Amino acid sequence: MTTPQPRANVAEIPPYVAGKPPTVRPGMTSYKLSSNENPYPPLPGVIAAVQAGVVAMNRYPDMGATMLYDALAEKFDVPVGHLSVATGSVGLIYQLVQAFCDPGDEVVFAWRSFEAYPIAVTAAGATSVRVPVLADGRHDLDAMADAITDRTKIVLVCTPNNPTGPAVTQSELDAFLARVPSHVLVVVDEAYVEFVRMDDPVDGLATYRRHENVVLTRTFSKAYGLAGFRVGYAVGPDPIAAALRAVSLPFGVSTVAQLAAVESLARQEELLERVEALVAERTRVVNGLRDAGWDVPEAQGNFVWFELGDRTADFAAAADEAGIVVRPFAGEGARVSIGEVEANDRLLQVAAAFR
Ligand code: PMP
Repeated sequence: MTTPQPRANVAEIPPYVAGKPPTVRPGMTSYKLSSNENPYPPLPGVIAAVQAGVVAMNRYPDMGATMLYDALAEKFDVPVGHLSVATGSVGLIYQLVQAFCDPGDEVVFAWRSFEAYPIAVTAAGATSVRVPVLADGRHDLDAMADAITDRTKIVLVCTPNNPTGPAVTQSELDAFLARVPSHVLVVVDEAYVEFVRMDDPVDGLATYRRHENVVLTRTFSKAYGLAGFRVGYAVGPDPIAAALRAVSLPFGVSTVAQLAAVESLARQEELLERVEALVAERTRVVNGLRDAGWDVPEAQGNFVWFELGDRTADFAAAADEAGIVVRPFAGEGARVSIGEVEANDRLLQVAAAFR
């Protein structure tokens, strides 16, 4: 008897490994540093704004997410038509591949990078072209430009790169864009943009205004602390944003998510102060690790990367023992989010002892 069969490539979709929750141990607080979340609790004003949506849960959300589009357009001084909101920025990655790739088309990205990239690419029947990151965790933009073929539809640039940490500079991005044919879409994944503190940082908004083949993806999950609500947005030229909206899931951003995102934009200053504190903690952690002899790459997101090879599982276990849950990548390394001060202290202790 035959049963319904999914497309052949569905079986090839790699699993998405979510960060584990903290291990519960009697008498010990355990911290989750495995998903690059924001450790701060929601602002009371954001909770209050969301309550209006909770009582309306029997109704569909505003499908046009009008308030959110308007708020984003005003905050970033872009036309509403250049925006597309989605169920997290991961939703936008799926939509980009769906809207631009036919089966067999190629999507070029650095590796290791955000693990959802090959998942979204395979799910759409397209082909992933992985270009290894350099020894210091940076994108090898020259090799990525060399990897472009007649079948390439999209290049994903993840900056700062999850999980290795470094960000590309504007000059590097400009030199890269000069080598990319105009029919290839360049997606700049700026999930951690608010955490970047470096010379010559990428100005994504200015870059998309200069290039008809550049789109930015951003999220409310990290700096804005709304990971649980799933809101992301893309900023790009009119036809690209329109294509993203066309393939979007109807009602993909819930009422509570829209309300929380709008309120968070209104309270951006307060939220960015928290980002500043996390950046200070990141500096403290990176300096502490380097003082202890660790050669960690430049960290421009809210996380640090430990290249550990076959010691990865042992490191994750040692961290777990100390009450911090990290994100191991088997045989490669561990990514550890910057969290509460106490959690970061514990990381420094574990790492110093593990050396
Ligand atoms: N891009 C990168 C580089 C990420 O690390 C993440 C989250 N881990 C995302 C996109 C997706 O974030 P979200 O779907 O929560 O917006």
